[in-house]
Parts: sequence; C-alpha cells; structure tokens
Amino acid sequence: MTRKTIPLTDRLYDYFLEVSLREDAVLRRLREETGRLENARMQISPEQGQFMTLLVGLLGARKALEIGTFTGYSALCIAKALPDDGELIACDIDAEWPSFGMRYWAEAGVSDKIHFRGGRASDTLENMLRDGMEGTFDFVFIDADKRGLDDYYEKSLRLVRTGGVIAVDNTLWSGKVADPDVTDEDTKAIRGFNASVVDDTRVDLSLVPIGDGLTLLRKR
Ligand code: CA
Repeated sequence: MTRKTIPLTDRLYDYFLEVSLREDAVLRRLREETGRLENARMQISPEQGQFMTLLVGLLGARKALEIGTFTGYSALCIAKALPDDGELIACDIDAEWPSFGMRYWAEAGVSDKIHFRGGRASDTLENMLRDGMEGTFDFVFIDADKRGLDDYYEKSLRLVRTGGVIAVDNTLWSGKVADPDVTDEDTKAIRGFNASVVDDTRVDLSLVPIGDGLTLLRKR
C-alpha cells in the first residue's frame, strides 16, 4: 500500500488499461489515425477520455464546451455522455484538425450534438458571453494553447453554471512544471495557473494525475 498516488510503471499501466479501458472501435480508430499525425502528442490518452465520459455522465451535463478540439477524440468522449438533445460547442483555431474527427463523430452518431466554432478561442468565448451564454454550461474542457490558459479559465468560469465543472488538461505537463530549470513560456503559464488556482476560493478542485494531469474545478 502507498499513502501517495501510486507511480505507474509500464507493466502496471498495461494492467490498468487491461482491467479498465473500454475504448470502442470508433474511438480506437480515431486515436490510431491521429497517432500517425505529426502533432499526435496533443491527443488525450484513452483512459483520460473514458474518465471524462464518466465525469460528464455523473454531472448529468446537457451543455458542454471544449476549448481546443484538435482531431476530436475528447469531443467524442464528451458528446457520448450527453443526452440526445445535449450540445457540445467545440472550439479550435484550426478547422482542419476537427474536420478529421467529424467522420468519426458521424460514425458514432453524435454529430448532431457537436457544434464546431473555428477561430481564436478568446474571441469565441467573448462572443458567447456577449450572446448571453453566461452560467449556461455544465462542463468545460480546456485543452488549447497554454499561454491563453488564464484567459480561457476566467471566461469559462463565467460561462459555467454554479456546480458545473471545468477540466483543465496538461496541468502536470510531462513533469516540467515541477522542474525549476524549465522556464519556457508554456511551462510558466501552466505553473502560474496551478499556483493561483490552488488558492482560488471561487472553486473546489482536485488535480487528477491521469494522462498529463487533469485539474477539475467545480464552480462554487
Ligand atoms: Ca492536452
């Protein structure tokens, strides 16, 4: 037994997947096809996707927002857990990557629930606030450029309802956040976010060490 979060050796990680992962064929093909792309590391891990599907279901979420869609694996994981009349607004600065995932969304039967918005996320979120969407979201997943993180978080906090959840990806950033010798802008942005959010009295939080670190923040 351990009083710390257990480190996952390769063998234990394989076992972890073997006894818990239920990734279906559509998700697997999307993940494998994305894995052949140059930016494949931007895709979340399958166990994280499954965790998010469970989380969105537990929340009973009907309306969700994703900031940073990439090829659509996480969007599919979220959309699967929404009811038939639920909605996921999926944002990405790049329209090409999400179009890659749209075939899979169709195959999984969730296309009607996902509405894609291209362009800079700051602008998209600003427009959503202006359009009266404040406090209307049950779940937000933030997984875009790290330098915009503080801005995305502040706007998400306005868009999410009280009791809703914001999930921020990559908060352990391959361990670089804990290495003071790493001082690139992305690492500093995540480190700064982590340092501030621990004292943010607007939310309850837990940093879940799944994938590359996923911080869950529940709006008070
Ligand atoms: Ca990510």
